[in-house]
Amino acid sequence: MKLTIECECGNKITMEPPSRKYLQLRDHLETKGFRFESSEYDKKSKMKEFRICCDKCRNYISLGVD
Ligand SMILES: [Zn+2]
Repeated sequence: MKLTIECECGNKITMEPPSRKYLQLRDHLETKGFRFESSEYDKKSKMKEFRICCDKCRNYISLGVD
């Protein structure tokens, strides 16, 4: 699978982990000028929401995973 994140400012990352392998999203993002932040947790400390921030223009998107 291929995973691409592209910001309006032109900052872009494409990740292509080998099939059925684990991808450490945070580490990959940080090599290309993006940042990963988890922002909201529920009572059991399960992540509910995370953000991908662009370091170049400070834009971000929030993604829900609950
Ligand atoms: Zn940007």
